[in-house]
Formats: sequence, C-alpha cells, structure tokens
Amino acid sequence: MNTPNARSTSPSPALRRLSDVTWAWMHDSSAWGYSNAGLIASQGQALLVDTQFTLGATRQLLTAVEEVCPLDAVGTVVSTHQNGDHTWGNQLLPQAEIITSAASAAGGCHEMSPDQLTQLCQSPAEGKALGYVVEHFGHFDFAGVTAIPPTRTFEGREEIKVGSVVVELIDLGAGHSAGDVAVHVPGHRVVCAGDALFSGGHTIVWSGSISGCIRACQILLDTGAEVFVPGHGTLLDRAGVAAIRDQLRAVADAATSYAQRGVPLADAARLIKAAHADTWAHPERLFTQTAAAYTEAGVDGVPSGTWAMVEGMASLTS
Ligand SMILES: [Zn+2]
Repeated sequence: MNTPNARSTSPSPALRRLSDVTWAWMHDSSAWGYSNAGLIASQGQALLVDTQFTLGATRQLLTAVEEVCPLDAVGTVVSTHQNGDHTWGNQLLPQAEIITSAASAAGGCHEMSPDQLTQLCQSPAEGKALGYVVEHFGHFDFAGVTAIPPTRTFEGREEIKVGSVVVELIDLGAGHSAGDVAVHVPGHRVVCAGDALFSGGHTIVWSGSISGCIRACQILLDTGAEVFVPGHGTLLDRAGVAAIRDQLRAVADAATSYAQRGVPLADAARLIKAAHADTWAHPERLFTQTAAAYTEAGVDGVPSGTWAMVEGMASLTS
C-alpha cells in the first residue's frame, strides 16, 4: 500500500459554498471512506469540521481550503467522531486545536489503527468478512497516517467564535459511534452532522444505539437549520433528515418486534433488509441497526464490536 492508488481519492470532490462563511467539501458518494467535511471561515480565522481518510485525500481538501483562507488560519478542527475516515488527516493541521466530545474521545480507544486496517486489507481475502473489508477499504493508501487524538473535549453544547461567526458544537451522544458531534452555524442555518447523517446510504450503528441515531436526527432538525452536510453522500434538506429519522424508527420498531417474538438476530436482519432496503446504498448496514435494536431490547448475546458488525454486514451481502 505504499504506492499511491487511484481510488484513494474520489474523482471529483468539490468545496461548495453554502453561505458567505460556510463551505462543504462534498464527495457526493455513499461508498465507504469518502467522507464530507465542513469549513467555516471569517475575519482571518477558520474551523474545519473533520479531515479525510488518507493523507492524499486530506491534502486534496486542504488545497481547496487554501482558496478560501491560508491554512494557518485553521485554528480549530472539530472531529464529529473518531472513525478514521473523519480524522486520519488531522496530522496535516499541526497548529490546530482538535475538539470533540468527551464521549467521542473516550470511544476512540476502541478504533482500529491505520496499521491494523492496512494489515487487514493486505491479508488474503478469505471468508466473507475479510472479503468485505478488502473490497471496500483495500484501495485506500494509509501510508504515513498517524492517528492524532483530540486535544480538547466538551460535553453538552459549547459556543465558540470563528471570526465574527457564532458556532455551536452539539454533543449528540451515542448513535452512529460511541459519541457523535454536530457543528451548527445558527446565523446561516447550516449543520455539519458527521455520520449522524448518511445521505443516499443506510446508517451504520457501530457502537452507539439506534434510539441515539433517531434522537440525533431530531436534535439536528430542532436546530431549525435548512442545510445539512451529512458525513457521506449528498447535501440534505429538512425533509431528507426527517426521512432518515423515519427510516431508523421503522427499522427500530420492526427489530424490536422481532426481538420480543424471539426471532434470531440473523433472521430478523434478513427480514428487515427485505422490507427496508429501499433504494438506499449498502442495505447490508441494516444488520448493524437490527443488532443495535436487539441490544436495546435486552436480548442476550447480541454480538458487538467493529468486527462483529463487519461479519454481520458481510453476511447480508447475498
Ligand atoms: Zn464516515
């Protein structure tokens, strides 16, 4: 993985201006690993919401940022959570304070390292789970990546100023991950939601909870924002966020009902995929939503952890 790979960066990400002080770095892709980012810049100061999965992809992002402001103006990076596709470019902004929620920072201890993911991707793709990892992550080049942890945490809500712009950091709690964070710019009705929102693809519940995902969608809507930058996929409006919330609710209700009737998790996940896949990408991620609902319903022995979720998703791919 030491040679640059053409698919380490997606073909046409772009920095889109959302208002006179807010921008979104959009891949418009629901494929794994191509995460969106946000930029707020005002009066010589800037805040970046998330970096990218690889150093190459983050350099591509920072080249676009430089068209808005000098890189040394980026004094703050807010990490929406600790997954590598949102944080593994942090080292390219050594001057920046890296802020996330206390829950997000604590959850980072359980994340896979760049070396571990590289080793997995270089393994012979034996078995469905490993095959799934290699298929979706094997084309990324993690050479040189050092995972940089947050330098400051917050809980609840915190307001900070970027130049003249008020920015609200929102601790969403456990949903997609053990701790998700959104960045709200109230004066411009913009929210950068990280992976609390997936647009065009199904939500993954790694280590949070499905009720937390539903609650997060409602918190985001309650900001009154009109434009939502999802962690992956295309920009969302309020109806788009409501549709994600309603999809999660429908899955949670169905999964809870299966759990109460004693239906095995694997069977429930298949039934839910058949009923709720819709046209959204990655319907196999419905395994993670089902498993989370089973855990919340108090079912014993529900598998947990990153690898168990990968195995569950891989099992739903055919
Ligand atoms: Zn992501």
